[in-house]
Amino acid sequence: MDLEKAKASDRSHFANLFNRLEVMPVRGDGVFLFDAAGKKYYDMFAGVAVSSIGHNHPRLIETIKDQASKLIHVSNWVYNEPQALLNEKLSNLTGLSKVFYTNDGTGAVEAAFKLARRSTGKKEIISMENSFHGRTLGALSATWNEKYRKPFEPLVPGFKFAKYDDIESLRQSIGDDTAAVIVEPVLGEAGAMPAHDEYLREVREITEEKEVLMIVDEIQTGFGRTGQWFDFQRMGIKPDILTVAKGMGAGFPIGAICFDGVDFEPGNHGGTYNGSPLGCAIANTVIDVIKDEKLVENAGKLGDHIMKSFGDKDIHGKGLMLGIETEDGRSTCEKLIENGVLSIYSGNTLRLLPPLILNKKDADNVIGIIKEVLQ
Ligand SMILES: *Cc1c(COP(=O)(O)O)cnc(C)c1O
Repeated sequence: MDLEKAKASDRSHFANLFNRLEVMPVRGDGVFLFDAAGKKYYDMFAGVAVSSIGHNHPRLIETIKDQASKLIHVSNWVYNEPQALLNEKLSNLTGLSKVFYTNDGTGAVEAAFKLARRSTGKKEIISMENSFHGRTLGALSATWNEKYRKPFEPLVPGFKFAKYDDIESLRQSIGDDTAAVIVEPVLGEAGAMPAHDEYLREVREITEEKEVLMIVDEIQTGFGRTGQWFDFQRMGIKPDILTVAKGMGAGFPIGAICFDGVDFEPGNHGGTYNGSPLGCAIANTVIDVIKDEKLVENAGKLGDHIMKSFGDKDIHGKGLMLGIETEDGRSTCEKLIENGVLSIYSGNTLRLLPPLILNKKDADNVIGIIKEVLQ
């Protein structure tokens, strides 16, 4: 099928939700995507920070074939070996003893809010201005963008916003009925805007002092993207609840909440598909590949290299989660597509979220193309 046919199908049948970029990849290989005509693109957004180990990684294909031929699904009514292995792995990686699986990031955020309300007996959740936590009614209530929220009001009561990267604003927002604070280490949808270095440590100090739970949303930053397994680890702190997804399944939909010191009781939460043998086997392999190929270190080093290369431009972010200010985000992306680079934008911020397997040579090629397009 060619692009024109796919566009016609969209116009006639697909929900009017996206202003898509004019590309239809049909095949992937490492950091590259190919369209039906064989045109090659650098994938510099990894399906929104998802394809962490690149496209068609041989170890991932092997795992999918092997696990699919044994067992795809059983539900949480019974024990599940890949899940038991993943429990251990996640607990070791995060330092948080407990875990529950979800099918995506939004599901993890919802589970985190329920866990926070249940275990504190309090109602209020504080999130940050410019944050993004998802689009279901609970997660949406914690999401800043009015355009996403307004048409769906009334949302869930008990949510309010503090200023991001502003510890005094947070201090003033916390009240007697505050259950939890949810925070992204780097604002993702807002275009890779990091907080100052000590921010998460300060949030941890205030939440401890006020006896409020700290939820860190690492759905976009987690699994190596910022040059740490999880960005909170940079500060040597521990959140009460961590939400993860995106890079965790490298394209297979799986997320999780990891937590410590709080818990559910039977009946509080669930979901038919959560933590399937196939999903967990995939996440196990993704973690192994990230470890074996030293992708966390690679993300940190390459991120620094890219930042330096753009020295004079307004570039911000952490590791391989970067934003570059442009005059027009959409038209910059369109020009990059003509030049064989696929990326996305938030407003006028060009967002770079490449697979963590990107190497220096390919990074340099992409830097060259972007600089030319931005001239
Ligand atoms: C993408 C994202 C979500 C939502 O995850 P989905 O998998 O799209 O449901 C939540 N929080 C952050 C920080 C995200 O980047």
